[in-house]
Amino acid sequence: MNESPVPPYDRTFPVILAGPSGAGKTTVRDALLGGPDADRYRFSVSMTTRDPRPGERPDVDYAFVDRDRFLALVEAGGMLEHAEVHGELYGTPSANLDAARERGAHLLLDIDVQGARQVRAVAPEVVTIFLVPPEAARIVDRLERRGSETPEQLARRLSSARAELEAAPEFDYLIVNDVLDEAIARVRAVVDAEEGRVARSREATSTFASRMIADLDDGRPRW
Ligand code: 5GP
Repeated sequence: MNESPVPPYDRTFPVILAGPSGAGKTTVRDALLGGPDADRYRFSVSMTTRDPRPGERPDVDYAFVDRDRFLALVEAGGMLEHAEVHGELYGTPSANLDAARERGAHLLLDIDVQGARQVRAVAPEVVTIFLVPPEAARIVDRLERRGSETPEQLARRLSSARAELEAAPEFDYLIVNDVLDEAIARVRAVVDAEEGRVARSREATSTFASRMIADLDDGRPRW
């Protein structure tokens, strides 16, 4: 493909995937990160005080830290957002956003609704996507299938799912994850459309249009 004739500007924006447990956030995110356009995204590895689950890789799935280390980063102003979820601390180190911007990639965040609110406040260019399963039964199934949860933990996760659903109207996009491939295609469509949104690049768009007008007037290309 030819270089875009629009002058350079920061085309990256964070993309938040939120939604209740059972919505398929992890599957959708892994599909994007393993797909043909994987280099458009950089996954935001969160920091958490919860214990790793079997199969989770430190610093790939999460940075697992103790409360002191977590709070020290918050104190130092190094956390873009953080929240307590199911009694544990979760947060996004600000360095994640810087690293994505440097690479020209969209930071892909799998965070809860409290975190989404905080990111919106500090990075208004963010695109927020709320992923939901087609029916409540999937949420319950998913939580029960995980099996590792005690009845108390299960109850806590169900009440978080309620809180997540209540926040759905705050989001930019709602995607129902019934057929997985369709949900993934919709997320890609959202990112494509947002990349082309003129409001993200008014100045660059105007420079581009003025140059094209000048070329039309001159009858020769200038770039
Ligand atoms: P889990 O413990 O099941 O991996 O994640 C529990 C919840 O915490 C999920 O809803 C997940 O999206 C959210 N979460 C994961 N990382 C972060 C983070 O960095 N910040 C916030 N606010 N929530 C997070």
